[in-house]
Amino acid sequence: MAKQASRPTAPTRETSGSIVLDISELPAQAVHQQLYVAGGFEPAADGRTFPTVNPATGEPIADIALAGPEDVDRAVAAARGAFDRWAGLDPRERGRLLRRIAETMIDNLELLAQVECLDLGKPITDCRAGVRDSAAWFEYFADVTPHLRSSTIPHADAQLAYVLRRPRGVVAVIPAWNFPLPLYGIKIAAALGTGNAVVLKPAEQTPLSALLLATLCAEAGLPPGVLNVLTGPGAETGRLLVRHPGVDMITFTGSTEVGREIAAAAGERLTKVTLELGGKSPNIVFADADLESAAATGLFSFTVNQGQLCSAGTRLLVERPVHDELLALLTAKAEALRVGDPRDEASHLGAIVSDRQLSRVEGYVESGRQSGATVVTGGRRAEVPGLPGGYFYTPTIFTDVDPAARIANEEIFGPVLAVLPFDDEEEAVRLANAVDYGLAAGVWTRDLDRVHRVSSAVEAGIVWVNTMHQLSPAVPYTGWKQSGLGVEGGTEQALEFTRPKSVWVGSSAAAPRFV
Ligand code: NAD
Repeated sequence: MAKQASRPTAPTRETSGSIVLDISELPAQAVHQQLYVAGGFEPAADGRTFPTVNPATGEPIADIALAGPEDVDRAVAAARGAFDRWAGLDPRERGRLLRRIAETMIDNLELLAQVECLDLGKPITDCRAGVRDSAAWFEYFADVTPHLRSSTIPHADAQLAYVLRRPRGVVAVIPAWNFPLPLYGIKIAAALGTGNAVVLKPAEQTPLSALLLATLCAEAGLPPGVLNVLTGPGAETGRLLVRHPGVDMITFTGSTEVGREIAAAAGERLTKVTLELGGKSPNIVFADADLESAAATGLFSFTVNQGQLCSAGTRLLVERPVHDELLALLTAKAEALRVGDPRDEASHLGAIVSDRQLSRVEGYVESGRQSGATVVTGGRRAEVPGLPGGYFYTPTIFTDVDPAARIANEEIFGPVLAVLPFDDEEEAVRLANAVDYGLAAGVWTRDLDRVHRVSSAVEAGIVWVNTMHQLSPAVPYTGWKQSGLGVEGGTEQALEFTRPKSVWVGSSAAAPRFV
């Protein structure tokens, strides 16, 4: 997820005036630490909690309720209890509610952005954009879901068949931590708009904004039980939720490894599942491209959100004659980026989400060095004045990369780029397709014929030409190969959240019979 056109920011409910570093500075109504079930906040049945940490300081922010088996039962029962009434509403009424949710989010933009900034460590300007992106998905499905149509199939003898679309029931929403609010918008808006009830389990690294969103949805008028939020680790709360017999559909965004486990668990009960998984996207630059733009957007692509982006263009494939020129442009731009305090509006990059994720990035950079690749810039932690305990890392560019090296094949999820040269179009496509993932790709060229050839040949769910990271709720987005299953965006996504039922209306005189 990344930049997209957003509407202007409406007046916001301000916090204390400055951007906060401590939960105690947030207004009380923004700070929820308990499970949200059936329209109310409550502690876990067994009283357990887990800490959430501020990545900019390394300090704990708050203890959050940890949902166990009883809590999962209660939340699924609450969703089931609310489902029939919600599914039976006039779809236009559900649409109006989604629109009110979007408006309530925009009214509380600053509060949501600050909570996200505190919990995730991403720059505040990106957090604000994330609120607008999230609201845009609620607006989109507010418009689209009341107008979903299905087909009527005519037959001879005055018979016809028509297809009803029915909501699936209780949907478990399990997103990653890298874009919490946008991912809630993407998944919850489509689920609710089509008449499903939701149990959301946010990532354990970023529980706070989900709990605030739940209160804003209630403020907008969403009936109790239609949206429930269970906080807790994936390995415990997430596992319980995906295996719960009361769950009719699972929509997951996260790593390919966990996606496979969830698909296997869903397979046990034949539960519908959609998966948005990892990536190792190629960004292919031909010699005739606008190199200045390719460098600027190429840098944005692997560093935005601290490189914690599923569709990040982390493999820059460059036609050999312009390799050195592009690398020089890219390196100069990378060295001008500001890794800084997430509260500072001038920071381009904030903190990596956790100590663990930072170690993972360091491990990959070390493996790159071991494989013989050269660090052109970066390759170390970044120091941010006043935040010595924060998880900051410098934008890092590798050349002389062996195409078989781990840094050229595995998802790192940090601001690390592998640059590989190619000699012709055929080699570019071969390198682009040489990984297990197939989420996204960039192509930079002024040759229109090549645009069509390469876009068609690259194995990816979305190909950006002379741009990257343009997303819209109206444009379907899907992972190929090990990057996913199912569609997000467009009416295609809305249909994922429904089951078709065909009704065949015949005539009794023509009904089949033996005698
Ligand atoms: P993750 O797979 O570790 O966790 C994702 C979610 O699943 C979290 O809510 C987590 O608590 C939960 N979870 C973890 N183990 C579970 C289990 N065994 N059963 C049920 N739930 C479980 O991923 P992450 O580290 O949070 O996110 C990073 C990954 O997400 C990257 O691979 C990234 O590419 C991917 N991602 C993909 C997209 C996309 O649209 N394709 C978007 C964003 C992120």
